[in-house]
Amino acid sequence: MNRLCVHTITTKPWSLERALQEYKERGISGVSVWQNAVQELGLKKASTLLAGSGLDVVSYVRGGFFPAAESAERQKAIEHNKQMLDEAAAIGAPLLVLVCGADPVSGLSKSRDQIRAGLEAILPHAEDLGVGLAIEPLHPMYADTRSAINTLAQANDMAEYFDHEKIGVAVDVYHLWWDDQLQDQIVRCSQGGNLLAFHICDWKYPTEDMLNDRGLMGEGCIPIKEISDWVDAAGFEGYREVEIFSNKYWSMDQGEFLDLIVDAYNKIYK
Ligand code: ZN
Repeated sequence: MNRLCVHTITTKPWSLERALQEYKERGISGVSVWQNAVQELGLKKASTLLAGSGLDVVSYVRGGFFPAAESAERQKAIEHNKQMLDEAAAIGAPLLVLVCGADPVSGLSKSRDQIRAGLEAILPHAEDLGVGLAIEPLHPMYADTRSAINTLAQANDMAEYFDHEKIGVAVDVYHLWWDDQLQDQIVRCSQGGNLLAFHICDWKYPTEDMLNDRGLMGEGCIPIKEISDWVDAAGFEGYREVEIFSNKYWSMDQGEFLDLIVDAYNKIYK
């Protein structure tokens, strides 16, 4: 078994059923499931399909978005996250990935307080279900509305505040490759038992779209192998999850795209 996992959003044009078949045919071992893929099919059918797929369900994506100016909105976010935890448990995902959110009116500091409060509110439910929570720091270009957690140090601070086995971090090379503290912070989260997930893709230059122009591994400037080695040296033995949002790749034949992914992966992890 290899450590290759693909996020369903990577092959967004495919149905969940088709994606699982195609992943399996190419020897991919894991899948991280995005909520839209489950919603298209319904939770029950999706669970049955995943259980019979022969693939490991690595994570469910993505909860979070806790901050909001109005308390009623924040409460809504908490309920939404609890529901996502239920769905994660139903499909057998051990982990819910969190894009924590940010409210541009309240600002970063207040947003972080609201993220902490949101995590506090959903943690008992995560514990009951046995589903972990992975705080994923996002590149600072998303600090306006997507996440007030922008470095691995900030994610580690948050995870260490809770010091709970069900809260940790997700390291995504796309968001963190530029950080000169990255290696130290990977060591730090692993020592705290908080390194829960590892996401890969590449940073294209120039990037043409802030959200949907991620690169295939090897076509950009992220030292993926070097960061992977840091993650492995820190004792991480989990999946390497390919997560590519790309208008360019979504518009091509998805089978050919998946072949490119497998080739690119094999080239890095020979
Ligand atoms: Zn990610």
